[in-house]
Amino acid sequence: HYSPQNTRVAVGGPGGVIIGGKEFAVIAGPCAVENQQQMTTVVDAVVAGGAVMLRGGAFKPRTSPYSFQGLGVAGLALLAEQRSRTGLPVVTEVVTPEDVERVAEESDMLQIGTRNMQNFGLLREAGRSGRPVLLKRGMSATVEEWLLAAEYLMHMGNGDVVLCERGIRSYERSTRFTLDLSAVAEAKRLTHLPVVVDPSHSTGRPHLVGPMSLAAAACGADGLLIDVHTDAAAALCDGAQALDGDRFAALVDQLKPVVEAV
Ligand code: PEP
Repeated sequence: HYSPQNTRVAVGGPGGVIIGGKEFAVIAGPCAVENQQQMTTVVDAVVAGGAVMLRGGAFKPRTSPYSFQGLGVAGLALLAEQRSRTGLPVVTEVVTPEDVERVAEESDMLQIGTRNMQNFGLLREAGRSGRPVLLKRGMSATVEEWLLAAEYLMHMGNGDVVLCERGIRSYERSTRFTLDLSAVAEAKRLTHLPVVVDPSHSTGRPHLVGPMSLAAAACGADGLLIDVHTDAAAALCDGAQALDGDRFAALVDQLKPVVEAV
């Protein structure tokens, strides 16, 4: 997956994580920040399993207004607490331009979600933030539209962009979305940007997270964004797609030979 000409995105300052470098970056955590105990338990599990960076949504862009919308600012504080406790950088989603500054202060990397890939006001603000950005592909966006969304960030002077393939809409209903791994290889060919894959939101099925993660590594992805929960049945958001700590750790071990072989 590594080429010296490619952009390497440093997250978390000196001693942080480089995405797009020689090391494959496994980013993991719960879909949503729920409470302190949940965060501590899940974060301990992902750190023990080999994650180099933490994820967790404080602002959740839910399809239904009746679903848990995230803890907002209180969630950012809980995430920042895990960052200090573990020393690992954190990525979290920002959904409105007005919140960019706040989220940028309390995290190491901004996530722009699939539903906001073409929210140009948000992209402009994230481009001005000075923080690296994880740009998820819109669920109905072509590769070209995805790359043009990345251009919005770069046009505002922010070259620290990581692309994330998270599945697209198709007629298939046995998976939540259809993971488009060809887009990963294509984005790697067309750009110098790192590309990571979200096998959790794309499949929506824990038993597919392992195979799709291995396939993502094999096709040249620079890392993964994986949902982990230690009590998935009680999760407030997307528990059905989360791995538990043991399955996550086993997957990180399985990834090693694949990453080395690419
Ligand atoms: C997420 O990663 O928390 C998320 C909501 O992902 P997506 O935008 O890909 O649905």
